[in-house]
Amino acid sequence: MRTANSAKPVTLASHVPTEPMTRAFEVTVTAVRTLSRTFRRITFGGYSLRDFGVHGDPLDLRIKVMIPSTAADGTAVPLPAFRTEQPGWYQEWMAMDPATRGSMRTYTVRQERLDAVYPEIDVDFVLHFDAAGNAGPGASWALSAQPGDSLVLIGPNNRAAHCVTAESYSGIEWRPGLAQRVLLAGDETAVPAISSILDSLPPYMSGQAILEVPTAADFQDLTSAADIGITWLARGAASGRPRPHGELLQEAVRAAVPAPGWVGVTSPNPAAGPEHPAAGPEPEDVNIDRDILWETPARMDAEAIGAGRNPDRPAGTLPFYAWIAGEAGSVKELRRYLVRNAGIDRKQVAFMGYWRQGKAEL
Ligand SMILES: Cc1cc2nc3c(=O)[nH]c(=O)nc-3n(C[C@H](O)[C@H](O)[C@H](O)COP(=O)(O)OP(=O)(O)OC[C@H]3O[C@@H](n4cnc5c(N)ncnc54)[C@H](O)[C@@H]3O)c2cc1C
Repeated sequence: MRTANSAKPVTLASHVPTEPMTRAFEVTVTAVRTLSRTFRRITFGGYSLRDFGVHGDPLDLRIKVMIPSTAADGTAVPLPAFRTEQPGWYQEWMAMDPATRGSMRTYTVRQERLDAVYPEIDVDFVLHFDAAGNAGPGASWALSAQPGDSLVLIGPNNRAAHCVTAESYSGIEWRPGLAQRVLLAGDETAVPAISSILDSLPPYMSGQAILEVPTAADFQDLTSAADIGITWLARGAASGRPRPHGELLQEAVRAAVPAPGWVGVTSPNPAAGPEHPAAGPEPEDVNIDRDILWETPARMDAEAIGAGRNPDRPAGTLPFYAWIAGEAGSVKELRRYLVRNAGIDRKQVAFMGYWRQGKAEL
């Protein structure tokens, strides 16, 4: 389960301000486990991982996975050297020949065992193949990964001052602040992050987690010390056509957060339909085919975007915190509902487009 990392005594003095916040880690696939047709759990191990991570629970810690290109003979093209310790490495990597530089994809650390003699992390890859059997480099690599394969990950450098706590590392978005009621909602790409967050929630927290996946065979046994109702939704019915991506998630979140939603997350309320009058401001439009939909409280504070305060809510109270991730179109619709219809304070919701239908990550 959790790493014992959080118990390590950490002093700011032991962390070097000049160390880069992220760095590359050379790892080897040590295990591959098929969880269902949708999820493949790949375990990466390596002594380099002794320097990986933040000092605390990983929560929704994101990493970059560098997928090598495939040569005409089917072998992996060795990745060119790139120096993540140098500012501007990303631009340098992007300027390289796409045929040799490989592809960079974003994933979540599902679990970590960093204090083991041979440190390891688990990453759950979604195998999203279309009807013609095509997928992007991330899913394709995961499908054929075997123990012994080597790979480069980019993630937090635990020697950096930025990684002294989870809150100080910008690759973790879960920031509930003072909220004690929470809503976590997402599609299959968010299942690893939601599962990892649930692992870490304290017993005084309560709320709901809503997870939409392709089929009921993808449901997983998740546990949490917190009082969280976990709802799995399967798009594929036992018979008939599968529901469109995100539709069940929309319905379930609307039912979970009645309008106005500032009172907090309640038990499911099937009567709450989509036609609520506006209770909050219209969020500005985001072109999800061009821009990344990524709106998290930390970023909003940084940009000092004001959110209308509901006068009925006692000053200083923070009713609940919502964390929503998945396909950008679906997340955008949920953002509009929660902010405009339910009147949720935007500073209390993290909205993250993890991927966009019809668009490769890079
Ligand atoms: C912070 C963060 C954390 C993430 N964590 C995870 C994780 O733990 N596990 C995980 O599997 N994904 C995760 N994702 C999503 C993942 O990065 C994307 O799904 C990514 O596009 C996969 O790369 P690819 O090479 O397989 O496909 P791409 O080359 O990026 O895309 C190829 C095609 O596949 C489509 N596509 C991409 N993803 C999906 C999908 N899931 N279902 C259906 N079609 C898809 C695209 O629209 C495109 O048409 C995360 C994303 C972010 C931003």
